[in-house]
Amino acid sequence: MEINLSMGLFNMFKPGDLVPTSGVYATWHSTPHALIEHTICLEGQRFPGCRLCPLGVMYRLEKPGVPIFSTTNLPEQGFSAC
Ligand SMILES: [Zn+2]
Repeated sequence: MEINLSMGLFNMFKPGDLVPTSGVYATWHSTPHALIEHTICLEGQRFPGCRLCPLGVMYRLEKPGVPIFSTTNLPEQGFSAC
């Protein structure tokens, strides 16, 4: 029997844990001083903690892979065509 509802628990991480996979992680704070954040964590780093949350924060992988930021340059239109 598969229980899909509990699947997320296996992807929960605490501050200090090693990041298993680079990607975007949803961050839950244990005190409601902040909304759910999305943090990019890189594999091999450790999840950062939160000074304002005595019980820490929880991380869950939302999107594996680091988004590649667009570096496309807009066409220059400053030159004048004489
Ligand atoms: Zn916090």
